Amino acid sequence: MKKAGISAYKIFPASEIVFDSEVRKICEKNTCRLYGKSWACPPAVGSVDDCRELCSRYENAALFSSVYNLTDPFDYEGMVNGHRQFKKNCDSLFEMLVGKSRNFFLLSNEGCNRCESCTYPENKCRMPEKLFPSVEGFGINVVALASKVGLKYNNGENAVTYFGMLMF
Ligand code: SF4
Repeated sequence: MKKAGISAYKIFPASEIVFDSEVRKICEKNTCRLYGKSWACPPAVGSVDDCRELCSRYENAALFSSVYNLTDPFDYEGMVNGHRQFKKNCDSLFEMLVGKSRNFFLLSNEGCNRCESCTYPENKCRMPEKLFPSVEGFGINVVALASKVGLKYNNGENAVTYFGMLMF
């Protein structure tokens, strides 16, 4: 994980994942403007029950996070750069894992920005093997889950923390 740029992670039984339909309601309000924009977010990922069922096919989960420094709490550019870097970290993790096993599934932070223009909803995803759906979009309460497994959610006002999850 560290080699992929992941700052911290916790491994736990997949049955411990905290699903919360209220999180999906936040998605539906579309404040992030990513709802219905890619195959990585609702409604494309299916209902929260569908997401729960998919996760239940795996025995274990690893919630992971990376922390990026900001110049101040309103450093929007720093947040965007951190998010871009986090997506690269997830790609590095995927490349590290795929050489060892195919029996895993990655979730990442927010939607998918891999392509300049997403095929959703007209055509299938161009890179389904590298489609890492949104951990929040799956209806997972990351705040509650981080607290449950002992991972820091907030790393100070001059930092932004992004989360992903590995199912294996
Ligand atoms: S990989 Fe491309 S086509 Fe697939 S969800 Fe992401 S942006 Fe859309």
